[in-house]
Amino acid sequence: MTDLTTASMIAMQGVNKWFGDFQVLTDINLTVRAGEKIVLCGPSGSGKSTLIRCINHLEPYQKGQIIVDGTRLVENAGVIDAIRREVGMVFQQFNLFPHLTVLENCVLAPMRSRGVSRAQAEATARRLLDRVKILNQAGKFPAQLSGGQQQRVAIARALCMEPKVMLFDEPTSALDPEMVKEVLDTMVGLAEDGMTMICVTHEMGFARQVADRVIFMASGAIVEEGPPQEFFRNPSHERTRKFLGEIL
Ligand code: ADP
Ligand code: MG
Repeated sequence: MTDLTTASMIAMQGVNKWFGDFQVLTDINLTVRAGEKIVLCGPSGSGKSTLIRCINHLEPYQKGQIIVDGTRLVENAGVIDAIRREVGMVFQQFNLFPHLTVLENCVLAPMRSRGVSRAQAEATARRLLDRVKILNQAGKFPAQLSGGQQQRVAIARALCMEPKVMLFDEPTSALDPEMVKEVLDTMVGLAEDGMTMICVTHEMGFARQVADRVIFMASGAIVEEGPPQEFFRNPSHERTRKFLGEIL
């Protein structure tokens, strides 16, 4: 029999987290297979960002365990670095380095933390910037780009580390409406190429198109999950119905 823990790309088992006295995550159990695409949704403040930030240890957790590609996430700098190299993250606010050009944003981490040569890092960066259709902006600084372009750079930058998993935290929420599609199209392409993804988003068209499972969180717990067809057609919990009624 296959060991579920090692066969999965991400396994969160009984994860609990507190901010002081406030319990932000309660008994989170989530297993993500290699190549699986998860859309995570739920009301503001329900713990979505905190959940995905735990996976690459941007937040510590106090109880339970998280296993990424067979490695148990423990409080050890070497282990945390190793997991962060496998897990790319894209944020709502892009978080590009403002003082570096697009190309330099992309080569920095591979050179520093993967020990890749400049020539090789630049070749990879150019290939991935081309893939997100922004290679012609490689010499510009972030402030010279639109929000949609900056977010595509952020995706390319994360891909330059050759991650096995990509985490997206509301990547289109800060964008003007006309730029949402170019970023979602980039994410759809990544999904079609087989990337393992957890996407926090309220873009339900995207969820229908690419998600294997949609997960709904409320008050720090997973309330309901299912394939998009079922999830949208027949949500079983009142909180899910209320949420979908508000966003759809
Ligand atoms: P979501 O991404 O679903 O909007 P978050 O994970 O950002 O939710 O936040 C979940 C809850 O935890 C919220 O009530 C928020 O105020 C609280 N929270 C988030 N970060 C911190 C922090 N660093 N310290 C204390 N409380 C926090
Ligand atoms: Mg959030």
